Amino acid sequence: MTDTLALETRGLTKSYSGKAVVQDLDLQVSPGCIYGFLGPNGAGKTTTMRMILGLISRDSGSVRLFGDEDPMVGRRHLGGIVEGPRFYEYLSGMENLRILASYGPEASEAELRDLLSLVKLADRADDRVKTYSLGMKQRLGVAQALLSRPKLLLLDEPTNGLDPAGMKEVRELIKSMQVERGLTVFVSSHLLSEVEMLCDEVGIIQEGRKVAEGRVDELIKPGESLEDCFLRLTESGGGQIR
Ligand code: ATP
Repeated sequence: MTDTLALETRGLTKSYSGKAVVQDLDLQVSPGCIYGFLGPNGAGKTTTMRMILGLISRDSGSVRLFGDEDPMVGRRHLGGIVEGPRFYEYLSGMENLRILASYGPEASEAELRDLLSLVKLADRADDRVKTYSLGMKQRLGVAQALLSRPKLLLLDEPTNGLDPAGMKEVRELIKSMQVERGLTVFVSSHLLSEVEMLCDEVGIIQEGRKVAEGRVDELIKPGESLEDCFLRLTESGGGQIR
């Protein structure tokens, strides 16, 4: 018997002004994995994630979350940062979480402090967000996304703009959410080295269509890097994928 997939899309399609941006996209994400969603700039990653999160309508296709196609049920399992986290800069990280928590399931002060510990912001919890680095804001964003106690977390390019130390912290955080909380994490990126270090499974899209999908260790041939693998699969020169 196979485990129920954490996420399954079938035939997901979206056009803007008659131009297909996401085309007939079938994705399968195993429960408990870290899934890297790869593609060059403009490939349709953010549009896909917005459709999965229900932030925009889809032209056709389906989204199934933990076996459930009913969006009201499935989306209870879902948390995510797609538009980039936004906070009240003059309030502290803790005060921001308190406000955001008031929109969702009840969370005690201890739970909020636990979340801030998980994202390694415990010692800065009471400092104003405007004093946080970009990496700290990203991690506070992850804490915000966890407020709804999701089983699947969608993160759109969470290491974008971070320096190597900040990237490493976000990577470690994603790993710890997988290991300690059993979360499935769907993370988009155009940084192949990041994905290779972090992900168990990948889906590669180009011009809105799926090029490849599978376990990283099965897609990559012996002696190949994920970058070589990407170039072989897309035969495109990789666009702006690095
Ligand atoms: P990036 O890595 O640069 O973030 P992406 O893979 O996330 O790119 P999308 O942001 O999904 O790509 O965009 C895919 C295509 O759809 C692009 O050509 C973009 O200009 C177009 N697009 C996205 N949103 C809209 C919109 N609201 N209206 C019109 N076109 C859009």
